[in-house]
Amino acid sequence: MTTTIPICVVGAGTMGRGIAQVALAAGHRVSLVDPQEDQLHAARHEISKRLARRRPELAAALGEHLGTFTSIDATPPDSDTLVIEAVLESLDVKTAVFQDAAAHFGHGCILATNTSSLSVTAIAAGTPVPERVVGMHFFNPVPVMKLVEVVSGVQTDPAIADQIADLATSWGKQVARVKSAPGFIVNRVARGFYGEALRLVEEQVSSPATVDEVMRGAGFRMGPFELMDLIGNDVNAAVTRSVWTAFNFDPRFEPSRIQDELVAAGHYGRKRGHGFYSYVDDTQPGKPVAVPASGTPDKVILTGDCAQLSTLLSRSAVDVDHISDSDGASPSATLPNDGIVVVVTRGLTAHQESAARDGAPVVVIDRCIDAGAATSIAAATSHPETLTGVAGLLAAAGVDVYEVDDVPGLVVARTLAVIANEAWETALHGVATPDDIDVAMELGTNYPVGPFAWTRDWGPSTVLELLDQLWSTYHDTRYRANRLLRSAATS
Ligand code: NAD
Repeated sequence: MTTTIPICVVGAGTMGRGIAQVALAAGHRVSLVDPQEDQLHAARHEISKRLARRRPELAAALGEHLGTFTSIDATPPDSDTLVIEAVLESLDVKTAVFQDAAAHFGHGCILATNTSSLSVTAIAAGTPVPERVVGMHFFNPVPVMKLVEVVSGVQTDPAIADQIADLATSWGKQVARVKSAPGFIVNRVARGFYGEALRLVEEQVSSPATVDEVMRGAGFRMGPFELMDLIGNDVNAAVTRSVWTAFNFDPRFEPSRIQDELVAAGHYGRKRGHGFYSYVDDTQPGKPVAVPASGTPDKVILTGDCAQLSTLLSRSAVDVDHISDSDGASPSATLPNDGIVVVVTRGLTAHQESAARDGAPVVVIDRCIDAGAATSIAAATSHPETLTGVAGLLAAAGVDVYEVDDVPGLVVARTLAVIANEAWETALHGVATPDDIDVAMELGTNYPVGPFAWTRDWGPSTVLELLDQLWSTYHDTRYRANRLLRSAATS
């Protein structure tokens, strides 16, 4: 597919104008269709303004490359047109648009849909050319976001999906190939990022500010609550509900009552001035209070091999006595003066870890994605008053400690285990390959690394252990571990 093929973008809203801009920049002639004249006018103005910065010659000659129309019937009827629809999220409206397009351009055109949540198979089935219908799921803002999910419905001709993938690549995008399934990759695998955070706050394990702080400290660009407030709680809750409904109310995608309450109150987030945080008078979410540090210990005893503890201890520059044989117990760091044992979460609570050590005081710390770069971490303790010493040790490593309730998997480990499990489920169902899932999650959500990469790093058995502990605590099928993950962990 070359830059000579004409593109017809239907819908001149947020996404349509971004797609039109990217197609113009790649050298295509573009027809932009919207029944609302004011949308067309605003779209032309915005595209021209954005192109003027990087492609002034194109912006100056925009009239030769971009035509705006209030109906598909008025566009040049080239038979090799690629139609990309970005109209409102309705099966009826989208199929009607594709029926009009197939009638106008003929049955040789390609019909690409930018739907985020509808079945590409169902959209295709409502058209006379289902084999020529494909998903082309861009992310907002289109000119900036690198990812395009190219989605094949049951009847999509593989050659058409290949052509669209090649075209998106030639536009400078990175493609993840996916079979039509609810949420495709990103909107499905990312649900746990919000869902676990919402559960932690609903159970009063932690505050939104603390969850956000430790997720950022682990390497995520934004915490889940600030992100939900940015996306809009109304939009985020609607995506969750749509994926949950499409998966026949699977508890893995269950919507959150606390988010529903915010939506009911009109607290949509930044756009309304209130969400999980208040934005009245441009106030920014405040920082939570870290555990005060009680001074750096002189020495630590490291028992067993744990890459995260070793890295954090080497960052702290504290003297370490290393005993390599942990005698069957999980690796730990002990503060010899007060006998506090620090372990990295494997899903057991601090109280359970303490019971396994004859009642010794245990502080469980969260998992890091990159222990060399972590800046804050969640921790729970079996004995009150033990956290300040551990905060002292970790402060020397440049890591702030935030106390949360003593629950399995704390914050980061629990959330990432659930996301990883969904990634394995997506691969098990043949919806996408592990490589495409990692690419999609890194580029579509800005995760520091993809879920298969962190499963490899932590080891599948660690992810499985976390899930199994969550399961044994909650007995909620949301935490049922994926079959492939279990076999990878046990092989
Ligand atoms: P939007 O509301 O900004 O724009 C939709 C446009 O479609 C409006 O200008 C409307 O006038 C026009 N429209 C409605 N019916 C039409 C018709 N029959 N023919 C032509 N135009 C018509 O919406 P948006 O945010 O750009 O979303 C568009 C699509 O992209 C939806 O399917 C959405 O799910 C999907 N999407 C949105 C995002 C996002 O972040 N906004 C991201 C990925 C995908």
